[in-house]
Amino acid sequence: MGFLVAATVVLVARRSESLSPSGGIAALVLGIVCSAAGLSWAGVLVGFFITATLVSRFRRERKESRISNVVEKGGERDALQVIANGGIFGTVAAASIIHPSAAWLCIGAGAIAASSADTWSTEIGTLSSVMPRSIITGRSVSPGQSGGVTWLGTAGGVAGAVVIAFITILVGWSKAAAVTAIIGGFTACLVDSLLGGTLQVKRWCDQCTMTTERTIHVCGTTTQPAGGFPWITNDVVNMLSSAAGALLGVFLYLLSNQ
Ligand SMILES: [Zn+2]
Repeated sequence: MGFLVAATVVLVARRSESLSPSGGIAALVLGIVCSAAGLSWAGVLVGFFITATLVSRFRRERKESRISNVVEKGGERDALQVIANGGIFGTVAAASIIHPSAAWLCIGAGAIAASSADTWSTEIGTLSSVMPRSIITGRSVSPGQSGGVTWLGTAGGVAGAVVIAFITILVGWSKAAAVTAIIGGFTACLVDSLLGGTLQVKRWCDQCTMTTERTIHVCGTTTQPAGGFPWITNDVVNMLSSAAGALLGVFLYLLSNQ
């Protein structure tokens, strides 16, 4: 049944151009693993996926026109993006099968709330009429540039975390898991922006004289490295912030059981 639900969701996502072919396969595997962990795990995953897709599609054209010259990827999510956002949650779900414990609910909630908060803060923040500022230097940066923050984006991140908290309550997870979703989601947003503004790879287009994450810019120019580590891409940063959310889940679980 889990396979059928996962396959249906992936088919709908493929048809609506939310997932690339490789992204579809990764999402299917993730769906099967979570279904094996239990209906509630599958429910949280599907809830995350549907709400993230809806917020991504909200005013999509307007957002793409604003940030397509800065961000590395857009539109359909590929396998790496699916793994970066759901890989830690899937690993936690698998661990809960091998060694059942209430701790996994907090850890899983933290991991997926982190991904949700990241997604929401990016998607909502891109619509901000105010120019983002670098979380590191405080200077104005282009919309879509990693490490740039706006109040609207921060509010979006909180909303993304709260959505996951609601979903965990709906599927019957513990109060501690819901609390972890909110705190973990917000913390992960901060981690995402801090890493995005420091270690994440930055490139420079000579033609357009602007910072970008693209190797080949929208103008066709091959961009030059301009800071950060080449292997710390947006996907790596997203996975690290999901790991931060999971880690916070460990601490909050231990705290709630004092
Ligand atoms: Zn260019």
